[in-house]
Amino acid sequence: MSFSTLGLSNEIIRAVTERGYTEPTPIQLQAIPAVLSGSDLLAGAQTGTGKTASFTLPLLHRLSSDKSKGTFNGYPPIRALVLTPTRELAAQVEESVREYGKYLKLNSMVMFGGVSINLQKQRLKGRVDILVATPGRLLDHVHQGTLNLSHIEVLVLDEADRMLDMGFINDIRRILSLLPKQRQNLLFFATFSDKIKALAAGLLNHPTMIEVARRNVTADTIAQKVYQVDRDKKRQLLAHLIRRDNWYQVLVFTRTKYGADRLVKQLAEDRIQALAIHGNKSQPVRTNALAKFKNGSLQVLVATDIAARGLDISELPHVVNFDLPNVPEDYVHRIGRTGRAGASGEAVSLVCVDEYPLLKDIEKLIEQRLVREVVAGFGPNPDIEPEAIPNGQQHRPKPEGDKRPARTPKPLPRASAKRKLAPPAATNGDKPGARSFASRRSAKRDR
Ligand code: AMP
Repeated sequence: MSFSTLGLSNEIIRAVTERGYTEPTPIQLQAIPAVLSGSDLLAGAQTGTGKTASFTLPLLHRLSSDKSKGTFNGYPPIRALVLTPTRELAAQVEESVREYGKYLKLNSMVMFGGVSINLQKQRLKGRVDILVATPGRLLDHVHQGTLNLSHIEVLVLDEADRMLDMGFINDIRRILSLLPKQRQNLLFFATFSDKIKALAAGLLNHPTMIEVARRNVTADTIAQKVYQVDRDKKRQLLAHLIRRDNWYQVLVFTRTKYGADRLVKQLAEDRIQALAIHGNKSQPVRTNALAKFKNGSLQVLVATDIAARGLDISELPHVVNFDLPNVPEDYVHRIGRTGRAGASGEAVSLVCVDEYPLLKDIEKLIEQRLVREVVAGFGPNPDIEPEAIPNGQQHRPKPEGDKRPARTPKPLPRASAKRKLAPPAATNGDKPGARSFASRRSAKRDR
C-alpha cells in the first residue's frame, strides 16, 4: 500500500517521498483515513511507530483543502493545536509539520517555556496555522492575552498519558475550555490507563479507536542485554564498554537529575565527553546538548526519563540503562530510542543487586527473560547485600515528569549498612531573577 492510495494531496506525498518514506506504517495506514474522514481518534501508539506523520499528514491535508473561517490580527487564525508533554517533543513535532508541509502554504509555530516569551509574542503577530505547544507556556500566553484559540478546528494531544503523568490535567482542562466546542480531537497515548480512559470519555465524540501493536521490545531490531555489576562499579563498567565496543553515540538513562550530572562528571574524568539533559537544565543547554548529540559531535548524552519519550534520533545505535527505571513501562520507552524505523540497535542495562526486583517487573512486562552477562573484572561480588533504592522523595531530587511513587524493593532479609545518600538537589542553572514571571512559571511547568 502506498501513500497515494490514502487520499493525501500531491504536495504532501511529494514531501513524504522526498523524506524517503515508501509506504505508510501500520499506524499511518489506520489513522490517516480516519482523520481525513473528520472522526475523533483515540490511538495507542508509541514514538517510533511513525505516529507523528499519522496525525500531521491528514492535518496538513485538511487545513490546506478547507479555507479558514475568520481572521485574527489580519491573518487567518490558528486552526490546529498540538499539545505535547515536553519541549523536545514539541520541537520535533513542529519540525515534522514544517517538513511534511513544505509544499503547502501553511505556517507553523512551536511554543514552550524556558526561552524568550517576547520572541513568541512577536511570532504570534504573524500568520500561524498550526501551533505546537507545551501546556505551561501556552497558558502564559493566554493569560497575557497574546494567544487566541477560538478558531481551533483540530486538537491533538500527543503522548497524552505522559502529560497526565506529569500533572498537566488541570492545564489541559483549562486549555480545552478555551477551544471551540465544534472541533476534531485526536488523542495519542503510549500506555492505556484509567486516567486516559477518563480523559477520552470527556473529550472524544464517537472516536475511531486504533491500537497498533506495542512497539515490540522483543523486536529483533533491538538487541537487549543485562550486565550484572556492583552498584559502585557501574561507572567504570560503562566507561569500559564505551571504549571496548567503540560506542560513538550513546544515550544513557539515569534515575535522577543528580545522578545524571554526577555521571557526566565521572565520565569526564575518564576522558569521555558527555552532557546531561534533564528538567533542571536551562532550555538553551538542553537544546544545545541534543543538537550536538544528534549531529554526532557529542559521544554520550545522559538523560533522565524526561528524554525517554519523544526523542527521535535517527539510527541511534546504543541505549544504556545506567539505572533501571522505577516504572517498568519506562524501560520500553527508553529502549525505544534505538532500533527505530527498522534500524538495528542495542539496549544495555547495568543492573546491580538492588535492582533485581525492578528487572523482574520489566521482564514480566515484556514477557521475555533478558540475557545476563558479566564482564570480566566487573562481576558482582556475591557478598554485597541488596539495599533499598531511595524513593527520591526525601533524599534525592524527585525524578521529574513522573508523579508515580518510586518503587522500593521488598524488605530484604539481611539489611545492611545505609546506602550513601545523594547531596541536596542540584539547583536550576537558570537565574530566576533574570527572567520574567511568565517564563519562570512555564519553565517550572513545562518539562
Ligand atoms: P515517530 O513515531 O513519529 O516518532 O516516527 C519515528 C520515525 O519513523 C521518524 O524518524 C520518522 O521520520 C520515521 N517514519 C515515519 N513514517 C515513516 C514511514 N512511513 N516510513 C519510514 N519511516 C517513517
